[in-house]
This record gives sequence, structure tokens and C-alpha cells, in this order.
Amino acid sequence: MHHVPEQAKRDLLAVCRRLYERGLVAGTDGNVSLRISKDLLLATPTGMSKGALAAGDLVLCDLEGRPQGGTRRLTTEIKIHTAVYAAREDVCAVVHAHPPYATAFAVAGLTPSENMMPEAYLAVGKVALAPYGTPSTDELADSLRPFVRDYDAILLSNHGAVATGRDVVSAYHRMEALEQLCRISAIARQLGGARALNKAQIEQLEAIRGVYGTHDADAPCWNCGSPPHAPASDATGTGASPLRPAGPVTEAQVRDAARRVLRTLRAE
Ligand SMILES: [Zn+2]
Repeated sequence: MHHVPEQAKRDLLAVCRRLYERGLVAGTDGNVSLRISKDLLLATPTGMSKGALAAGDLVLCDLEGRPQGGTRRLTTEIKIHTAVYAAREDVCAVVHAHPPYATAFAVAGLTPSENMMPEAYLAVGKVALAPYGTPSTDELADSLRPFVRDYDAILLSNHGAVATGRDVVSAYHRMEALEQLCRISAIARQLGGARALNKAQIEQLEAIRGVYGTHDADAPCWNCGSPPHAPASDATGTGASPLRPAGPVTEAQVRDAARRVLRTLRAE
């Protein structure tokens, strides 16, 4: 019998409840997983509302998606999750949902620009659009593979969205922030279009990137011990950036950077 940390179960259930309560999934849609060790995932079962899951409903599987414990049947979308973990040692949680605005972008074949708002730039990063694949099949997992290394937020054409993170709460926050970005993008389009942040404003955001996020990306994962690993892209929200400060950021640096960003925004 595998040991499952209580905190991992609690976090996973809390995220599932929030996905349902915030309307990011409907019916029995969506699935969530997190790494609890080097070769074991804790994941949601198939066919159950994310709003009414109990700890006993959660399922264990290995990194190939083979069931390893639990009384329920594993989510049929586990291949989405294993495709991500196989490519990203630094990712310890995956959230798949069908948020209305993000899915509307995915249905329209569009991606929102992350360069519109500071929060979206830092919390969501670049958004990819993966081609359509039939749910539960290798086709869907394969459609994601070209993007998982460089993106933490991926829209699935005509289907929904995937968000990844260092832990399940950060992956959830990224999904929520992605939905908010898509919602604001859609409204801005109705108002005549969004204005992008300029190069200097983006550089200043890069300077304060280190103070964002709910985890220490430079330390091994508290839960499964996975080592930190920077993805290739520098605009994904977790990637190493040439502009990112080398050491820990001090409060004074943050205040200074925030002042510079505000000054630039006001000058626009
Ligand atoms: Zn789905």
C-alpha cells in the first residue's frame, strides 16, 4: 500500500471544489493530478463531479497512467497528464478543465495575448493552442506534446485548457488566471481591441518576476522531491530569464521595480 501525504489529498480536493464552484468545469468534466513521488501520481476518478469528491475517491497511478491503488476508476484523460510529466521534471501538478472563456478561445482557434496585463504576463505566461484530438485517446496527448516543454498554459482546440504548475495550487491558480485573461481579452475585443504592454514595461515585469508565484521554483518539490528544472522558454511564468535576478529578491528591489512599472504605466 502506498503512502499518500494528507496535504496532497487536501490540496487536490480543494482545487477540485474550486474548479467546480468557479464554473471552470461542468457536470463530471475536468481532471486533476499531482506527483506524490518520483513514479506515482494522485489523480481524480472518472465520471464524478469535481464539486463532490472525497479523499476515498482519489486514485493512484504510475507515470504511464497504470492504476496503482484506490477504489474508483482513473480519469480517462490521464494521458494528457502523463504527456506533461514525461516532458517536464519541474512540473508536479496538472489541471485540465473547460473554463467557458478559455474554451471559447480554443473553439474559435484563437489564443489571448499574455502581453496585455501584468498579472497575466507573470502568472499565465505565453498561451499555446494545441490541435484538436479526440478525448481519452493518444491523439489528444500527442497533440499536446509539441507544446508542453515551453508552455504552462495550453488551449486544446475545440475542447478546453490545460494548466501546469510546481504544485496543484499553482496549477489551479494558472488555470483561473488563464480564464480571467481570456475573459478580459474577449471583452477588450468587443471594446475595439486590447493595447499591448510595451517592451520597457515587459522588461520591468521580468525584473519583478521572482516575487510572484506560490512556490520556490529553485528548490526541490516539497511533495515528491522533484528537482527544479527551467523550461526552454523564458516567458512561460516559470522559466529562467536573462532578466531574472540571480539571487533572492529583496523587498526594497520589489518596491523599486513596482514604482518603475507604475511610473511607466501612468506615462502611457
Ligand atoms: Zn476535457
